[in-house]
Amino acid sequence: MTEKTAVVIGAGAAGLGAARHLHEAGVPTRVIEARSRPGGRAWTATLNGMAIDLGCAWLHSADRNPLVAVAEKQGLDIVRHRPPWGAQTGDRGFSAADQVAYHRAFDAWEARMAAAAGRGPDRSGDQLLEPGNRWNRLIDAVSTYINGVELAGLSVDDYGNYADSGVNWRVREGYGRAIAGLGAGLDLTLDCAVTMIDHGGRRIRLETAKGTIETDAVVVTVPTTMLVDGGLRFVPELPQKREAAAGLPLGLADKVLLALEHPDDLPVDGHLFGAVDRVGTGSYHLRPLGRPVIEGYFGGALAAELEAGGPDAFAGFAIGELAALLGSDIRRRLTLLAATAWRGDPFARGSYSYARVGQVPARPVLAAPVDQRLFFAGEACSVHDFSTAHGAYKTGIAAADAAIAALAGG
Ligand SMILES: Cc1cc2nc3c(=O)[nH]c(=O)nc-3n(C[C@H](O)[C@H](O)[C@H](O)COP(=O)(O)OP(=O)(O)OC[C@H]3O[C@@H](n4cnc5c(N)ncnc54)[C@H](O)[C@@H]3O)c2cc1C
Repeated sequence: MTEKTAVVIGAGAAGLGAARHLHEAGVPTRVIEARSRPGGRAWTATLNGMAIDLGCAWLHSADRNPLVAVAEKQGLDIVRHRPPWGAQTGDRGFSAADQVAYHRAFDAWEARMAAAAGRGPDRSGDQLLEPGNRWNRLIDAVSTYINGVELAGLSVDDYGNYADSGVNWRVREGYGRAIAGLGAGLDLTLDCAVTMIDHGGRRIRLETAKGTIETDAVVVTVPTTMLVDGGLRFVPELPQKREAAAGLPLGLADKVLLALEHPDDLPVDGHLFGAVDRVGTGSYHLRPLGRPVIEGYFGGALAAELEAGGPDAFAGFAIGELAALLGSDIRRRLTLLAATAWRGDPFARGSYSYARVGQVPARPVLAAPVDQRLFFAGEACSVHDFSTAHGAYKTGIAAADAAIAALAGG
């Protein structure tokens, strides 16, 4: 009898976690990845000699995040400083009293979200704003950073399911580097998009950019966008997977990195909201990890609009908001290093998943195996840790465990 094999489609946190687990269980496993690098939405680039995360950067729920141990095992440095989000350096454009009032309004909105989640029909997050509250626009802006979408598109039930311990750490050398490092020693084929999964026969047949592969079990970890209309087909078709994926679109978050000359007058790990009276505004991390850089973060409709304008649109918008807060001299000290375009990225088409209103059940439907030989993983499959790298990784381990059991039994 020939040995049973597995193929993992996608080399992100879910795929590499699954493949490593299968490999360590002794299952001959190949990873097939469309991009020319591993990591997927985890991506550490070297910019001006600095390791900068263009995708995930924060080990959320770090006190229970299994990727902390993964990074430490690689000898990487875990930075345990508290994140600066929510604070306003120098109270610029946002007085201390207003900050207190805003945080109170945000906490009250979150408490209403928690109280409503799972009770009665699902609703959108904007319905739980206090009508007329002056901080509603800033709360909505923060939703675009957290969820990649404005509150009008956000499911209260899904938001209520998200489990966050409130502890957030970083990897100095890059979160993306730690996740890509999971691929070391695995049988990984890059530049090889899978276009079709034929699961009608005795063995599963994959059509890829580099030819056909036959195998016994497949772990599919591509983003939901790829299952809706991203060029990956199942034969026979799996309409329930496509419908579940359509209920879990990817929200959008993008970053701009600006090199900062003479950084010393700005604090390390400072933070500024670009404006506090509109939804379309950036969140600026000053000198992250002590580097001479300002990182701007944009979500939702603003990110989409800036992506359409290209890197200069991000830089122009960010520098404009920063100049309004820090004075126009800052313009001469800032230079564009990089801007992301996750919506335009052909193998992501967005940043992280959110559930449309009423679509919370789509997460377990997406995650469910088919015939005990097609297994599904990826951040969108996670009920409690969706949208995160550690959530993706955990679904990868779970899918690998299910595949190992099925291969052993079949
Ligand atoms: C700007 C930004 C900031 C973020 N910040 C954080 C953060 O601070 N903390 C956090 O925890 N998370 C964050 N995230 C989210 C996190 O990066 C993702 O949730 C996680 O990396 C997703 O992992 P995954 O394995 O599910 O999917 P992916 O990483 O997308 O992996 C799927 C892989 O499948 C490949 N693929 C797609 N189609 C095919 C095909 N047809 N054939 C073969 N391969 C294919 C893709 O190229 C990709 O490599 C952020 C994301 C972005 C974009």
